[in-house]
Amino acid sequence: MTRAVVLGGGLAGVLAAVALTRHADEVVVVESDHYPAGPRPRRGLPQSHHNHVLMTGGIRALDALLPGVVDDLLAAGAHRRNLPGDCLIFSGEGWFHRVRTEADLIACGRPLLDEVVRRHAAIEVVQGVAAVGLTGDTRKVTGVRLGTVTDGWKHIAAPGRAGGIAEIRTTTGAPLGDLPEIARSEVIGADLVVDATGRRSAAPTWLAALGVPAIGEITVPSGVAYATRLYEGSGEIPAVLVHPKYTPARGGTLFPIEGNRWIVTMTGDPPLDEAGFLAYARALRDPVIADLIEKAKPAGPIRPCRDTANRRRHFEDAELPEGFLAVGDSVVTVNPVYSHGMSVAAMTALRIAEEGPSQRAVAEVADRSWRMAVAEPRKGGDAKVGRAVLSSAGLAAEVFHGQALIPAVRDHQAVFRAMVDDLVEPLTAEQAISQFAWAR
Ligand SMILES: Cc1cc2nc3c(=O)[nH]c(=O)nc-3n(C[C@H](O)[C@H](O)[C@H](O)COP(=O)(O)OP(=O)(O)OC[C@H]3O[C@@H](n4cnc5c(N)ncnc54)[C@H](O)[C@@H]3O)c2cc1C
Repeated sequence: MTRAVVLGGGLAGVLAAVALTRHADEVVVVESDHYPAGPRPRRGLPQSHHNHVLMTGGIRALDALLPGVVDDLLAAGAHRRNLPGDCLIFSGEGWFHRVRTEADLIACGRPLLDEVVRRHAAIEVVQGVAAVGLTGDTRKVTGVRLGTVTDGWKHIAAPGRAGGIAEIRTTTGAPLGDLPEIARSEVIGADLVVDATGRRSAAPTWLAALGVPAIGEITVPSGVAYATRLYEGSGEIPAVLVHPKYTPARGGTLFPIEGNRWIVTMTGDPPLDEAGFLAYARALRDPVIADLIEKAKPAGPIRPCRDTANRRRHFEDAELPEGFLAVGDSVVTVNPVYSHGMSVAAMTALRIAEEGPSQRAVAEVADRSWRMAVAEPRKGGDAKVGRAVLSSAGLAAEVFHGQALIPAVRDHQAVFRAMVDDLVEPLTAEQAISQFAWAR
């Protein structure tokens, strides 16, 4: 009998667990947080207040892993938009013409997406329990050290003490019958331990404690802060994206989400007060988003996020012990303006489902995203730079194609044509907006 223990019940963890059910007899997810009742943000996932768009690569992988999940998301109020066909986009080079491609995106609140995915996944999650270390040696990881969570953030190890486990539930909310004996001990033995604890993952430290050499890591600042606010607003609106042209990367997006709401994000260095947020939106290269939100009723506070750096950890190049795998944000995070992380999680899980656990396969998916967000150093130089701040027709087309994380050349050309058309025959803001039934 083989047991896989997945650390972290975020999207990457839940989807990796789904994939591993094809390869292990038993799969257990350990999550330090508690899932809320219903689609609500939670403390273990601070980014869930912010705009989360699922790109084409992610949509396809998610549906392949959990057939019917995308239909359920749409039935729950998520919006599907063609990219760029159903989006009003002011790129660095001008307004996009409406061109339909094979690329779609799904816009909804992150809590809704997580809840629908967890319902479909129906895997076992031990909640309120944190991983605090690994057991084993440089050759093999044999298990996970657990601690109880006292305040949702602070992870307290409880060596030698039985009990203290706050709650044990499945993702469907039903209590589990056969897990308590695992959860009560401070170590879970495992044939495979999967680190999916996200951007704040301590896996390199845990591995170092076993004697594993340092994991190679590169961090490239994105230079982008986020400020996000919900508004009441109709779903009959295209996704609206106003891109920056130069640094600082001042841009804004508005996506319709479930519950007749808009999720509006300002990127760059946006202020967090009401007047400043609106003024910032108005000062973008086009005021279309400001015009919309000025008349709309806010549905929550303005929320900041500065944790947006690009970071790649090269677990695949390390001499890892057997029985260990890292996935998701623990391996790669890119500037959120690319909207990649959830798609990377889904595409990685699909590879694991099809091929079995492989750090190399994880790296291949991660690198596709990383190459989009971070430019290689110039000849002779050693500094890498985030690419979102760059602006050229070629890059914009590549970004839109690459952002969808699908390899279809046809789409690339279609999007590129849209860019070139923009240059040859530029649209005014009024012409661009009048391409849609909705009017300013
Ligand atoms: C502002 C912002 C906007 C974003 N927008 C998008 C977007 O539009 N589209 C997109 O695809 N991606 C987006 N992302 C990225 C996306 O949020 C992540 O890639 C995605 O959540 C998958 O990450 P993960 O599951 O690896 O980690 P996380 O989502 O961070 O989940 C990690 C989980 O591990 C748990 N945990 C942590 N420590 C422990 C421990 N010691 N023991 C047990 N459990 C633990 C946490 O509670 C959490 O549930 C955005 C990110 C940010 C910051």
